Amino acid sequence: VHFLMTYLTTSVSERVVADLRRDLFDHLVGLAPGFFETGRIGELGSRFSSDAGRIQDVIRFGIPELVRQGLYLAGAIVLVTITHAKLTLITMIAIPFAAAVGMAFGRRVKRFSTRVQDSLALAVARAEQVFTQIRVVQSFGQARAESHEFSLEMDRIRDTGLERGEARAVLVGVVTFTAFAAVVVVLWQGGRLVLAGDLTPGTLVAFLLYAVTIAGAITSLAGFWSNFQEAAGSAERIFELLDSQDTIVERPTPRLLENPRGAVRFQDVWFRYGPEQPWVLEGVNLELLPGTTVALVGVSGAGKSTVASLLPRFYDVTAGWITIDGTDIRDMSLEQLRGLIGIVPQEPMLFAGTIRENLLYARPGATGAEVLEAAKLAHADGFIRGFPEGFDQRVGERGVTLSAGQRQRIAIARMFLRRPRILLLDEASSALDAESEGLVQDALSRLMAKSTTLVIAHRLSTVMAADWIAVLDEGRIRAKGRHPDLLRRSFVYQRLYRRQWQAAARKVEWPSYATPAADAPEVVDWSNIPSAGAEELSSPAVDESGPETLPFSSQA
Ligand code: ADP
Repeated sequence: VHFLMTYLTTSVSERVVADLRRDLFDHLVGLAPGFFETGRIGELGSRFSSDAGRIQDVIRFGIPELVRQGLYLAGAIVLVTITHAKLTLITMIAIPFAAAVGMAFGRRVKRFSTRVQDSLALAVARAEQVFTQIRVVQSFGQARAESHEFSLEMDRIRDTGLERGEARAVLVGVVTFTAFAAVVVVLWQGGRLVLAGDLTPGTLVAFLLYAVTIAGAITSLAGFWSNFQEAAGSAERIFELLDSQDTIVERPTPRLLENPRGAVRFQDVWFRYGPEQPWVLEGVNLELLPGTTVALVGVSGAGKSTVASLLPRFYDVTAGWITIDGTDIRDMSLEQLRGLIGIVPQEPMLFAGTIRENLLYARPGATGAEVLEAAKLAHADGFIRGFPEGFDQRVGERGVTLSAGQRQRIAIARMFLRRPRILLLDEASSALDAESEGLVQDALSRLMAKSTTLVIAHRLSTVMAADWIAVLDEGRIRAKGRHPDLLRRSFVYQRLYRRQWQAAARKVEWPSYATPAADAPEVVDWSNIPSAGAEELSSPAVDESGPETLPFSSQA
């Protein structure tokens, strides 16, 4: 029986918790990215591990105990009732009292337990951040301060844990005391009955044995109750997460585009990150004809990344429309929409695994030949072959670390595998070494030739190669046009040019920064710029000797 019980509860608890974790993951992984921006990522780990673990423990150890003690209790109650109904009634008076104590302290246990779990989740999340950013922590000499903060948090958790322990102790203690007090009452009343001749001593002894069994069972149940309350707190947290609503929802019957051409249109798009937040985009209009490249430029904070994240519906527009081939993207299926779009982020991240696995992430069914071809097109095959294990080289955890330029080329190779109709490109703002730079640019231009491209541009060469440029400033498109044209017409663009590219244009004077071949398109002679534009620039805010024109600012 014991074997059967253990087997049963283990298998049930494993299944229940595996299902719970699975459901939680399924739910979370589909949520809009906005959900993960509220500092929750670190806490989520605790929900998966310790909260789910608590529920598992209650099922595995608590349920058998509940069944066993419940049976003892029921059996013993039947027996005492048969033995002597009147004495039983006296004992039963204790039960409501024990139940009341259980309720009150059960709630306390649950409250403290949730508090412990929450603080622990936060502390673990902080630790995770510290370890992933260990260089920042150490370089600022904050290791000790972090230790101290963590230690204080542990003290707080310990204190709350102790309070939880006290609540448990009171709960179990009072219930036990009540139960055994009832036994004493039985002894006393029973003794009187025996003296009066209404009860045989043998019956009293039997009765007492049953009463002790009942008291023991009630005591165990009190222990179970407090464990159950802790698990209930954990379950509540998990269900809260499962109930979190997704902000991005698909239509019940989405429209499917046939042969999408990749014409993208932003129509009077207004956007803010939340009802309480300021407007980030205020009436943006953009039209990208199929196969063209549009460069989006603007100072940092202008809203460029926001524009880009609206297209794959990481967020929905607050007002206005975004269409692809004339269809509102909210009417499309998310699968088709995201299938059309390829994203090369500013700082591509790779999953821990082999290079091949990382490439296949873009298109799981690709053949070895296709992977190789994509790597070649992205100028990535050279360095990949250089690794001892080639395409099967592990990267990330327990593997080699790739340089920024190499990671970018992997990200570009992914795009060659995916061949998206629409390409969202967030150009790296930090300078790569000259060789990587040239290879990345070359690979990108090949990729861009085949898709409609919206590029958040940081490089003069990109801006000059684009079909046209949109100048974004404080959430509005201030000007559209080509480079020479904008330099003449747009004050915002002129300012941007001075800040970001003028120094880059002079980079040739810094031999260690530039090789003419790779940087050639960036070499712009300031004297070529029409004097009309230059005159408009005589704003006092622009100081040639100021920090804005240091060579480094081109990388900011
Ligand atoms: P850019 O890409 O041009 O540097 P962003 O689109 O990143 O500009 O940011 C535009 C504005 O939106 C900034 O003021 C920024 O603080 C705000 N912002 C960006 N992302 C978020 C977010 N996830 N939640 C709230 N505000 C955000």
